Amino acid sequence: MSAMNHDATVDATPATGRSFVQGILDDGMGGIEHNAITAKLEDLVNWARSRSSWPASFGLACCAIEMMATGAAHYDLSRFGMEVFRASPRQADIMIVAGRVSQKMAPVLRQVYDQMMEPKWVISMGVCASSGGMFNNYAIVQGVDQVVPVDVYAPGCPPTPETLIHAIETLHQLIEDGQLLRRRQETGAGANVHVTEIAAGDNPVPVILGTR
Ligand code: SF4
Repeated sequence: MSAMNHDATVDATPATGRSFVQGILDDGMGGIEHNAITAKLEDLVNWARSRSSWPASFGLACCAIEMMATGAAHYDLSRFGMEVFRASPRQADIMIVAGRVSQKMAPVLRQVYDQMMEPKWVISMGVCASSGGMFNNYAIVQGVDQVVPVDVYAPGCPPTPETLIHAIETLHQLIEDGQLLRRRQETGAGANVHVTEIAAGDNPVPVILGTR
């Protein structure tokens, strides 16, 4: 509950730019935005979903090494409520497609996706998953969006852990403000958001990437 109160305070002003106190002075209780008592149920659900998203254990190729590094001690993915990569798709809600997708693996990937509970999200990690990359041949799917709807694309070969965290933070933000579902309705597929690549060492303190 203390974490909830903390975030309610931090998130109190984004819509209007008013300070927490000014909001109360202007509109009384109605001026307290994103408060646990006055918030819309939809906002609270999105808030909870964005902070408790568990990825499925699903590494396909070399990109998966970077994904594992992202979960290890230095980058510490658990800071974002994602400490456990679930071995069962029924306990996961984020699929990180980490690596090239072979034609043989595509139906398996789709089956894992289908077994995940709604709502579920997909990050395409690396150029191979996003477009086939340098594997422009009959054996590799030329873009995993042919198999599952992709919400966020993380560029690079491989994307650095900083880039993957950037993609995850972007996904969390899209879930929290409801944009992700709106974009899905518009595209009829995934949210289709592209993030920029962050080279290793570009951020001298990678553990403070993002806004939380
Ligand atoms: S993008 Fe690069 S690192 Fe990732 S799977 Fe393809 S070749 Fe491997």
